[in-house]
Amino acid sequence: MSNATQLIHSIPVDALTGAISVPIYQTSTFVQEAPGVNKGFDYSRTNNPTRATLEKLVAQLENGATGLAFASGLAAIDAVLKLLKAGDEIVAVDDIYGGAFRLFTQVYQQFDIKVTFVDTSNVENVFNAITPKTKLIWLETPTNPTLKISDIEAIAKVAKASSCLLCVDNTFATPVLQQPLNLGADIVIHSATKYLGGHSDLIAGLVITKNAELGAKIKFYQNACGAILGPFDSWLLIRGIETVHLRIKQHCNTALAVANYLEQHPLVDKVFYPGLTSHPNHAIAKKQAKGFGGIVSFTLKEDTNDAALAFVTNTSLFKLAESLGGIKSLVCHPANMTHKSIPADQRRVVGVADSLIRLSIGLEDAEDLINDLENTFSIIENKLTKEQNVEVSDTTKAC
Ligand SMILES: *Cc1c(COP(=O)(O)O)cnc(C)c1O
Repeated sequence: MSNATQLIHSIPVDALTGAISVPIYQTSTFVQEAPGVNKGFDYSRTNNPTRATLEKLVAQLENGATGLAFASGLAAIDAVLKLLKAGDEIVAVDDIYGGAFRLFTQVYQQFDIKVTFVDTSNVENVFNAITPKTKLIWLETPTNPTLKISDIEAIAKVAKASSCLLCVDNTFATPVLQQPLNLGADIVIHSATKYLGGHSDLIAGLVITKNAELGAKIKFYQNACGAILGPFDSWLLIRGIETVHLRIKQHCNTALAVANYLEQHPLVDKVFYPGLTSHPNHAIAKKQAKGFGGIVSFTLKEDTNDAALAFVTNTSLFKLAESLGGIKSLVCHPANMTHKSIPADQRRVVGVADSLIRLSIGLEDAEDLINDLENTFSIIENKLTKEQNVEVSDTTKAC
């Protein structure tokens, strides 16, 4: 049976009524027969049937023992970091999601948890950054927004040899394309806000652990700290996940078409997409993932803030917004939006140039999206030539 078929049929039909859609148990508490005698549920922070169905489903999707659903991707990351103690260290991917960077450096550093950022696309950098205090390695692959690829299997070996946990933020790839636990990772997290939800209509996070022991530890923090996903959003996320295979296939096909188009455009400098043979880690991406995802980034030859701003404010189908992974295509200027919380010089070092533009390819037809980009390039080209003409006439006057 294919993964898609298996997924659809692993969402249970309601045993009580035969309802084919998972019931939303919108309740805070459950009536008990005697203290501690119940039907497996006592209070919805601890456990809720709708959330439990989602959690079982995502554990299966990532081939893990335990799945846990949180109020946001950052709440999921936060729950994993609670495994650490003061004095522990983290080695993390340098091109990390901006919100994770803020959480690591502005929250956990206060509690004496140190983080070292390295370019994890070279395994040696990870190996060299590990100290006896390192307890956790944190990867995103592909990264946001420069689509760097790290070799999960090779880094898992380094983690094992140093008795560190390896956690992979699998938001960009989704389990449809990449299953880090099968490649040796211990924990996977998701911002389910993105592809798993898939419709830009909810904020949610997930943690999936390879073994049940680690799962129990994080479940303790889920209940003790309380950032759970509510019953309605759990249902909404199940509904999104039902079509994830279909959506991801389409996102990947269209993204490759857009990346190929961008690569030949005269105003474009570099295109970042792991599916292009020009990508430095194309071979690793091909080895560890079934596809290359729906995010394409590029820089302009005119590498300025202004040129990027002109671009992102003139698209029509691509809507200017943070976030990604929904059915509508989005455009974003990381230096001014998602990555604003990372200091400018550090941002440039990790490859987030001033003119870097990130596209989240939605489910529109490739041809329509390419037409929109073509129109936008014409608009900014006109603007740029006009500015040059103004400069020329100014010099003429001065003469
Ligand atoms: C969006 C995102 C997060 C944070 O998730 P929220 O649901 O917004 O809290 C974490 N990691 C990656 C890669 C993301 O894109």
